[in-house]
Amino acid sequence: MIDCPFCRIVARQSPADIEYEDDAVVAFKDIYPKAPVHILIVPRRHIPSILELTPQDAETIGRCFVAARAIGEAKGFGERGYRVSVNCGPDGGQVVYHVHFHFTAGRRREG
Ligand code: 5GP
Ligand code: ZN
Repeated sequence: MIDCPFCRIVARQSPADIEYEDDAVVAFKDIYPKAPVHILIVPRRHIPSILELTPQDAETIGRCFVAARAIGEAKGFGERGYRVSVNCGPDGGQVVYHVHFHFTAGRRREG
């Protein structure tokens, strides 16, 4: 298996606070939360980065956003809203090269 921290979480070989999962997606609490609610949404299948995305990945990536909606509803942010963001590559601040979406909520942004 690829030596990837998020693949290990998906495979239950590393611990994580799992918040949501389905056949395509796993979501778990960020270990260093930067907002009152900070969840990482990752595809089960290892896709390194948006920088390497192909059309074959479109369904999987779409499933991550559908999961974001489910998490938002489940946590009571369905109307107030939340942020879903992704860091892409070195200049985009990506540290873990298993594509993931940051779901952050619970703090109104300034401006
Ligand atoms: P990136 O900068 O790659 O978009 O963000 C990686 C995120 O993953 C960071 O917010 C970091 O706190 C989180 N993170 C890194 N390693 C782990 C881990 O092993 N477990 C969990 N739950 N979060 C992690
Ligand atoms: Zn991986």
